[in-house]
Amino acid sequence: MIEDYLHDVLGEVADFDGGSVADYIELLAEADPDPLAAALCTLDGTVYSAGLRPGDDELEFSIQSISKPFVYAQALQELGADEVIKTVGMEPSGEKFNELSLDGDTNRPMNPMINAGAIATTQLINGEDSGVEDRTERIREFLSRLAGRELAIDRRLVESEYQSTDRNFALAHMLRNYGVIQAEAQDAVRSYIHQCSIMVTTRDLAAMAATLANGGRQPVTRERILDVDVARQTQAVMSSAGMYNAAGRWMVTVGIPAKSGVAGGVLGTLPGQIGLAAFSPRLDSSGNSFRGVQVFQRLSRDMGLHLMAAEPRGRSAVRFITDKDDTTVVGLQGDIGFSAAERLWRTINRHEGLLERVRLDFTRVEGSNPIGRRMLLEGINRLRDQGHVVEVDDPDDVIPRARRDNARFEAMGDTSAEHQLLNQDPHSYDEDFDMGED
Ligand code: GLU
Repeated sequence: MIEDYLHDVLGEVADFDGGSVADYIELLAEADPDPLAAALCTLDGTVYSAGLRPGDDELEFSIQSISKPFVYAQALQELGADEVIKTVGMEPSGEKFNELSLDGDTNRPMNPMINAGAIATTQLINGEDSGVEDRTERIREFLSRLAGRELAIDRRLVESEYQSTDRNFALAHMLRNYGVIQAEAQDAVRSYIHQCSIMVTTRDLAAMAATLANGGRQPVTRERILDVDVARQTQAVMSSAGMYNAAGRWMVTVGIPAKSGVAGGVLGTLPGQIGLAAFSPRLDSSGNSFRGVQVFQRLSRDMGLHLMAAEPRGRSAVRFITDKDDTTVVGLQGDIGFSAAERLWRTINRHEGLLERVRLDFTRVEGSNPIGRRMLLEGINRLRDQGHVVEVDDPDDVIPRARRDNARFEAMGDTSAEHQLLNQDPHSYDEDFDMGED
């Protein structure tokens, strides 16, 4: 059901064809502009994904700038925050990602999300004297652990970018001039470009994001890769500087730490809840994936992701599951958003010996959001498809609101199951819904 939802979101943004693929790197300019994918990874390691065309979510593309937060995290993990701060700051720069600028007082790059900061951060990996190959292998290995699979470097892309990277050379010379890096400019740039040319899928990015959201433990492999403090610091820096010049607007409209790259990837983290990713190669004028931003805006709105919205969350949605006579009664509680509904259905699916009659008791549900409601409705329909008779005890009308939210979905699908469901509810609902506030 989550895949269906993601697919609907992709359908909504499919026709936004603004922007264009990055063309300052020859190979990127040749990229197919049309793929569109979205993925999310829960903190217990389930990855859901969808592609507009089948397979779009499995397509590999270069990670580009999305490597920056992860190499920063690697540096923090290996050297500690006190050491890393000597090389790179953590203030938003308010300038273009490849601006030739350093902090006026310290001569350090402002943050690790702009190229000057990223080139300097990369040089912290594997020691000052490391060669390019050893350093980039360390980075490739680290990012592979974060993704939960072996990632490869696209060597053709490295050479292609190397032909048109004068700006990064200028940055590396500037960093050398101020003693921020010791390596030859050419080696520093090559290391950085190698890390940008690591190939990932949208699903990989969701898992990597979820590792940060999960406080540093990779949710699929369960490996602890980062300390909790490192995951927190990385997300904090992403939240102020991750989306190029649009970081402020992003924080208002989407409201979660995020990072995008010029190949069209975007990832976002909702700390303690979920990792998200989208991919679409055409970029807007800020250098962010045009449709990727649209996908995130919709996910944020539907799923109530915005960090500043301060919705209560965290308690398990299932208060109890118990058999009473011929009925399995499931008591729900708290706020039913995405995470709660997702856990609810997984708990129910795992429950051995679900009886034919299932009663969902909503009396302790305090609130819900559109994606939570949609998932409740779809889950109920699924139970019915599996042959269960579903009753709901829903004094606060969570289910009718779900029907209203899903008007578009209903119009497309078979509504008969829902009508039956509503007709057998212990409370009878009007066909006309209250269209007022939730
Ligand atoms: N390799 C690219 C560069 O340094 C990455 C840019 C990006 O994704 O923002 O220009």
